[in-house]
Amino acid sequence: MNVGFLSGIKKVLFLAVVCQSLFLAGCEEKEGADPKKDFNPNGVLNKKNVGESARDLLSAEKFTKVIVEIQSAQGFEPTSQAVTNLKNFMEQRLNKPGGIILKQSSIPAPGKTSYTAADIAAIEDRNRKEFTRPDTMAIYFFFADSKYAEDKDNAKVLGVAYRNTSMALFERTIRDLSGGITQPERSKLETVVWQHELAHILGLVNAGTAMVTNHQDAPHGRHCTNSNCLMHYTVETGNVVQNLFGGNMPQLDANCLNDLRANGGK
Ligand SMILES: [Zn+2]
Ligand SMILES: [Zn+2]
Repeated sequence: MNVGFLSGIKKVLFLAVVCQSLFLAGCEEKEGADPKKDFNPNGVLNKKNVGESARDLLSAEKFTKVIVEIQSAQGFEPTSQAVTNLKNFMEQRLNKPGGIILKQSSIPAPGKTSYTAADIAAIEDRNRKEFTRPDTMAIYFFFADSKYAEDKDNAKVLGVAYRNTSMALFERTIRDLSGGITQPERSKLETVVWQHELAHILGLVNAGTAMVTNHQDAPHGRHCTNSNCLMHYTVETGNVVQNLFGGNMPQLDANCLNDLRANGGK
């Protein structure tokens, strides 16, 4: 799930940004130059659309480091195996000679029955600590204590990418669909959903990273036509669960890898 529903929350986000800058203009006094602040005032570099920072994340041209903020609703933290898998995945794909740094934290569970993309964005706006600064891109993942508002019986959304550096995983839904005797291990399900959402902000498919050859499953948005690929649309809905239980961990296929490499990745 990505750019598609962004248009729906665009207005809300736009209003939020306007209010914030009015407020700051009203109360902020002139200060000496602060390079960090001038570089990314009000976190504007982290409020762009999904895929807009793909090249900055993939290449070392402008940023040699990435800081990954993993913030969970208390009690809904990801498994440490999935955290390790995410770091390995990023090291394999991103040209970041300065390193990939993970920072984990928890916040009191917001406790809503379900979350819209706008709800998730508001949680991020209240709690996110790390923002892009000179030489370091910051990305943000929220592990939610509830499900996505638009879940259907036959398609439960497991993750969303909703801004250029912002993603959420619906950890409660992931737990419902994993760990049982006929279900995949939780760390495996977390891993594929996590990598899938990250790949959206890396610009896949045709969403900020150009396609080397056409492999976009246009009827399903920014996804790959290959049903075995990590970027197939079924990976972020519950449909992936059966395949995973069978032992298949979806990976990026050759087309998706070619696109990332052509846009500065490894
Ligand atoms: Zn997707
Ligand atoms: Zn693919």
